[in-house]
Amino acid sequence: MSDRDELLQIVRQAKEHVAWLERGGSFGLPRGEVAPPKPAAVAPPAARTVAAPRVSASAVAASAAPPAAAPSIVAPPSEGMGAAKLAAIREELGDCQRCKLAGKRTNIVYGVGNPDAPLVFVGEAPGADEDRTGEPFVGAAGQLLTKMIEAMGLARGDVYICNILKCRPPGNRNPEPDEIAECEPFLKKQLAAIRPRMIVALGKFAAQCLLRSDAPISRLRGTWKEYQGIPLMPTYHPAFLLRTPSAKRDVWSDLQEVMRELDRLGIVRGKKP
Ligand code: URA
Repeated sequence: MSDRDELLQIVRQAKEHVAWLERGGSFGLPRGEVAPPKPAAVAPPAARTVAAPRVSASAVAASAAPPAAAPSIVAPPSEGMGAAKLAAIREELGDCQRCKLAGKRTNIVYGVGNPDAPLVFVGEAPGADEDRTGEPFVGAAGQLLTKMIEAMGLARGDVYICNILKCRPPGNRNPEPDEIAECEPFLKKQLAAIRPRMIVALGKFAAQCLLRSDAPISRLRGTWKEYQGIPLMPTYHPAFLLRTPSAKRDVWSDLQEVMRELDRLGIVRGKKP
């Protein structure tokens, strides 16, 4: 590459980095104060948990290549079978009457997004907007989640989004153990169908439920955990961020950790955390 081309490339990469920092600002982060990468508190998730990385030759080749101009998911979809498997699980769920929430719901909120997503976000339960539309995370908290995903250089359609519960608890009360017991097997099947490389657990209920922990989310967040062999990053729920904007800094730090790992595994290229 000529000196001129090299210089142009450096300028382009610097511009991309600035744009990425600005996207961080788009969900209300302090501009220019993105936390520096912190050393992993535990062994990197892939080393700890993933027996055989599912990265194809093309993904390896892509990871060796210079970053693309725009972020893109380069890891292959997990055999491309996610859609068919998710459809079969939805069929099995049917017009679910397994718990007491059934009579109160308008719609089952199953999940949305890329059926072969490398990254899945798991929330708590549908709220009023989600119950009305049948789609997870479409209300105010959902709009913030969408901004967070976009700040990561991804689109909502790149990832998969679902909840611990598929029906709205009346008045948005907390999920109850019998409801979780009936609903969680379907989430488990969805995650087994998608086979994501990473999961982000949004908020106390998702994190505690998936990790079988009663530790507070303030303690769980920010370090890699594991769900069924899949690296899991707990972080605060977007609804909590709406009430507590000062926690956005922590969430951004957690999401940056996820981005670093997506980049390290060659799954998403083109934007550096
Ligand atoms: N909160 C959640 O946990 N899930 C949704 O789908 C919406 C709000």
